[in-house]
Amino acid sequence: LLQLYGPLNFLGSVYSAIRTALVDLEHMLGLTEEEVEVADPAHPLPIATRLQVSAPARVAFRDVHFGYRPEREILHGISFEVEPGRKVAIVGTTGAGKSTISRLLFRFYDVWSGAVLVDGHDVRDYRQADLRAAIGVVPQDTVLFNESIGYNIAYGRLGATPAEVQHAAQLAQIHDFIMSLPEGYETQVGERGLKLSGGEKQRVAIARTILKDPRVLVLDEATSALDTHTEKEIQAALKTVSARRTTLVIAHRLSTIVDADEILVMAKGHIVERGTHAALLAQNAVYASMWAAQGGESGQET
Ligand code: ATP
Repeated sequence: LLQLYGPLNFLGSVYSAIRTALVDLEHMLGLTEEEVEVADPAHPLPIATRLQVSAPARVAFRDVHFGYRPEREILHGISFEVEPGRKVAIVGTTGAGKSTISRLLFRFYDVWSGAVLVDGHDVRDYRQADLRAAIGVVPQDTVLFNESIGYNIAYGRLGATPAEVQHAAQLAQIHDFIMSLPEGYETQVGERGLKLSGGEKQRVAIARTILKDPRVLVLDEATSALDTHTEKEIQAALKTVSARRTTLVIAHRLSTIVDADEILVMAKGHIVERGTHAALLAQNAVYASMWAAQGGESGQET
């Protein structure tokens, strides 16, 4: 019986990791208790998943129309492109359709018309599991499970070596914090262990994503403001993970996206303005007034 315990325990951990991964994704995407009906193609195209072994991905939305229910269209013809390794940010009022765009990228739903493309192919041409392996997400609020902090990071890529986990933690700027804990990487976290702060949890999420090494990254920025020091550290860690990676940011604080290659300003399912930070300020319209409302140059908080 004792001999069985090891493998069973391991299987339990894997199960728990998979469940938590799904919880994270559902949480970020706001998918709760919802049946989503999308089917895998009969002859799926292969897709490279890790950046380390492949080039960054190209992402495009082509005249996408979509709604959750037939009587209400939410996105009214959305087109944009994120070139390999570039960063596009989406901003806009609440309910504008920002998260809906990330849900369509993950293909949690199918578009009504138009297409979502990754590497020039319709996301409907890939196996869903492969597509989601190629896309990493740093959610607003990370779900931790009752395991060691090392394991909580490692499940970004089950099978990563302890050295790889540590390297990811260093890049995410959480290694020093972990080493200051009495049991280091073995410290139990979660409901029955050490409680982590919002900023620490986010760094765990960043470390996981660094390990996963996806070719596309979706950052769902937290609405709640962190203190300025933590915010700076998180931004630095996010810069590391998004460097050279095709990145889509759903942003709330404009100060974090001034360096984006393109900013899409959304309202009621339309892109009403688009351009770089400087170009949008020069237009002196919607984005410029959002920037002014957030305090302009010194603006940090929403
Ligand atoms: P926020 O900044 O508040 O997160 P958002 O721009 O991300 O907003 P979405 O979450 O994309 O907005 O929602 C766009 C619209 O779609 C909203 O009117 C919302 O009510 C609706 N919507 C979102 N999810 C669903 C759903 N599962 N079923 C039906 N309608 C939905």
